[in-house]
Amino acid sequence: MKSLVWFRSDLRIDDNQALKNACISSSEVHCVYLHSLNQNEAHNEANCKTHFIIENLKSLEEDLGRFNIPLTIIDSNNFLDDPNKILQIVKERNLQQVFWNNQVGFDEIKRDDMLKKVLDENNIKYSNYENGLVYSPGTLRTGDDRPYSVFTPFKRKWIEKFNIDLLDIEFNYTPKNNTGIKSNVNTFDFSFKKTHSVDMSLWPVGEKEAYKRLNDYLDQKVLRYSKDRNDPIIDGTSRLSPYFASGVISPRRCILEALKRNNFELDSNEIGIVKWIDEIVWREFYKNIMFCFPRVSKDKPFQEYTVNIKWRHDESELDAWKNGETGFPIIDAAMKQLKTEGWMHNRLRMVTAMFFTKNMLHDWKIGEAFFMCNLMDGDFSSNNGGWQWSSSTGTDAAPYFRIFNPLTQSKNFDKSGLFIKKYISELEDLDAKEIHSPASNIRSHLGYPEQILDLKESRLRAIEAFNSARN
Ligand SMILES: Cc1cc2nc3c(=O)[nH]c(=O)nc-3n(C[C@H](O)[C@H](O)[C@H](O)COP(=O)(O)OP(=O)(O)OC[C@H]3O[C@@H](n4cnc5c(N)ncnc54)[C@H](O)[C@@H]3O)c2cc1C
Repeated sequence: MKSLVWFRSDLRIDDNQALKNACISSSEVHCVYLHSLNQNEAHNEANCKTHFIIENLKSLEEDLGRFNIPLTIIDSNNFLDDPNKILQIVKERNLQQVFWNNQVGFDEIKRDDMLKKVLDENNIKYSNYENGLVYSPGTLRTGDDRPYSVFTPFKRKWIEKFNIDLLDIEFNYTPKNNTGIKSNVNTFDFSFKKTHSVDMSLWPVGEKEAYKRLNDYLDQKVLRYSKDRNDPIIDGTSRLSPYFASGVISPRRCILEALKRNNFELDSNEIGIVKWIDEIVWREFYKNIMFCFPRVSKDKPFQEYTVNIKWRHDESELDAWKNGETGFPIIDAAMKQLKTEGWMHNRLRMVTAMFFTKNMLHDWKIGEAFFMCNLMDGDFSSNNGGWQWSSSTGTDAAPYFRIFNPLTQSKNFDKSGLFIKKYISELEDLDAKEIHSPASNIRSHLGYPEQILDLKESRLRAIEAFNSARN
């Protein structure tokens, strides 16, 4: 049989069920990636992420080439265009079956349903699989057969049902028959214009690099994860998220390699490893939420009453936040990290998002879109989950009256101000006492802005807005 594998957010060979099953059942395997700048823009995909994907496609082409599997890039206008593009290549090459790995967003599911219809109408077989998740979204259910909307019971069930066969991912690829088709990644015109200022050397491309990052992290740092994960100046987290988001590494691979270093214990032994796996389960949890409650995919809050919140809109505050000029050093340093690295530390994602939605009282959807437009690891479900958590509009969200004070967060998690100094050079000579909230005369002397809002007043304003929305 001759088959087609459609790569989307799964740019890897390892633990790629679509590719593996195509290889098992077919003598000839062709691969395709549909490139659409329009669609990327419609979904707020960051320019740096598109750049990362293009470079990873080059690496994927090489890896597939070792097994005589060509990778063809095709231009597509948008998701509506995709099914016919797939049908066209299937017909042109006389292929008999199409394989792909699922995505959980509403538009993605709708696109795949259209594809299934087109393939059915043309009597072409297809098979689809999960993209490295341990459980298919929607399959873990509560006692009364509902999808989970709170993390802790979800995780409990996740562990209860777990058995090591769920991580049975080892597979030895062997060369397929030659297709006579040449890959085109290096000659394809992606029409990509670089507009970002991210230092791409932070994110070396390819599956081998991702795997190396995973093993280095597990060998050298994971045991200190619980201790180090909240301090943004310590490189205490794995920084694997861009690789997860584009599918260059699989979550099941990460969990398996972590378990190998923990006697295969999921919730005991090394606390750092247990906690790190927990975070990968959070990722799976948010994918479940998006799948089971598609409204969150459509700009709707999980907590329905919060549609009544009267969000403010102040263009100059918005610009100050985006540009890292709020006058709150920890917020500004975090926003600068986002621009220069295409990544922000998790603690600071929570702090900046909460400042945006509570102190500024701006609509979480605007912040969500801005993050997505700038994150190398932009992942719709995790980003949406994180924003809805921070704005108290989501599942399992922070209670609306528990609002992080950015100055306290700064003192607790960047005690000596080293993180702030790394990103705001104007403040590099300040001491640990002054740096979190410099006095007015120091600000004017250093050219650092005044605070754009009063923390106490803005906190009360947010609580009032949530109270009014509830009544
Ligand atoms: C407002 C906000 C927006 C976010 N947007 C994204 C996003 O677009 N893409 C994204 O991957 N993560 C997002 N997160 C989650 C988290 O901040 C990042 O996954 C994490 O910072 C990535 O760094 P790391 O790879 O070093 O993580 P590690 O701490 O090493 O964790 C390992 C992996 O677990 C997953 N993970 C960790 N924390 C979370 C979490 N809170 N929720 C879901 N998955 C998690 C990630 O895949 C991560 O790579 C967001 C969080 C918030 C609060």
